[in-house]
Amino acid sequence: MEKLIYLDNAATTALRPEAFEAMKPYFMENYSNPNSVYTFAQQSKKAVDEARETIAGLLGAKANEIYFTAGGSESDNWAIKGCAEAFASKGKHIITTKIEHHAVLHTCEYLEKKGCEITYLDVDENGMISVEQLEQAIRPDTILISIMFANNEIGTVEPIREIGAVAKKHGVLFHTDAVQAFGHLPIQVDELNIDLLSASAHKFYGPKGVGFFYMRNSVKLGAYVHGGAQERARRAGTSNVPGIVGMAKAAELAVAQMQESAEKIAVVRDHLIKRVLEEVPYSRLNGHPEQRLPNNANFCFRFIEGESLLIMLDQRGICASSGSACTSGSLDPSHVLLAIGLPHEIAHGSLRLTLSEQTTLEDVDYVADSIKAVVERLRSMSPLYEDFVKSQTE
Ligand SMILES: *Cc1c(COP(=O)(O)O)cnc(C)c1O
Repeated sequence: MEKLIYLDNAATTALRPEAFEAMKPYFMENYSNPNSVYTFAQQSKKAVDEARETIAGLLGAKANEIYFTAGGSESDNWAIKGCAEAFASKGKHIITTKIEHHAVLHTCEYLEKKGCEITYLDVDENGMISVEQLEQAIRPDTILISIMFANNEIGTVEPIREIGAVAKKHGVLFHTDAVQAFGHLPIQVDELNIDLLSASAHKFYGPKGVGFFYMRNSVKLGAYVHGGAQERARRAGTSNVPGIVGMAKAAELAVAQMQESAEKIAVVRDHLIKRVLEEVPYSRLNGHPEQRLPNNANFCFRFIEGESLLIMLDQRGICASSGSACTSGSLDPSHVLLAIGLPHEIAHGSLRLTLSEQTTLEDVDYVADSIKAVVERLRSMSPLYEDFVKSQTE
């Protein structure tokens, strides 16, 4: 096989073998619908119940506060549209940030068209929100604060504990898109005052197309999918039994190995960052220097088009991203990089590398060598760079 170095784990991860093994019996041996009454269905019902217990336990939540969904986007939609609908008589104001995933941002834009008012908080140059600004933005008609746990592009981890405390103090519900954080960072919903939380299995080495939504028992949002009585009549549709079982297995292992795994990945990631910043001129690291996901490295290279860089890295067997998978294919620079204050021309030259536990020092050395060579090559063809070099020597 040709060389393949997969550094796009923020877009999706490989399914871990233990999760795959756990899923297998629920495809062909026990394919029963967990809602059926006969004995054959008991095993799949039990598997779904146990998965719910497992996930709830990892968050310090109750099993009946976990709802299985088709992933992060659905959970985000449910949280935000659900609050807008359930609390319409209380108010129409929602606070979020400029750096959310599109599953949150586009949902908010949709609600704006329906008459909601949305405050999009700024972030600083590291991608951090200001808790003070958040508190100032709260109004009597604020029904929800939705702020991501960790950013999928630049890896910045938001001050979730402080945000939860402010939300509680003012009696406003707090939703967090924890898709990049769950299984990677410790999360206890009570300690952090989180009322609603979104997560997705394929971001923590589980299967694609399955996720969960945590909804605190005191928060009663209405049904998101109407139909059968699944998920306590709030999310209809026959349960994705293998997906749910695989997600719970992946969650259990991710949380159990979290600290060890994070430390191991960060060593490799820091080696990559050090080499790139030292060896590639006019490069910068985006995102918070310390408060960041252990597997995230996001760079900007001046005088470079991110898309050209991706194509040339792909030719060397390196899978990377420039911003988020959802925006690839569009020519607009990342909304996250613009929000941290980068000018368009610099934001265009971005590269996101997200590692896994499988990524070795040898891999990242090859990647650093490749980036160095490719950036040099692209700059040698760039009239902008030529002008810049001339202006420096004059
Ligand atoms: C991937 C991602 C999502 C979307 O999750 P899906 O399961 O792919 O729908 C939402 N938010 C963040 C932060 C993500 O990284």
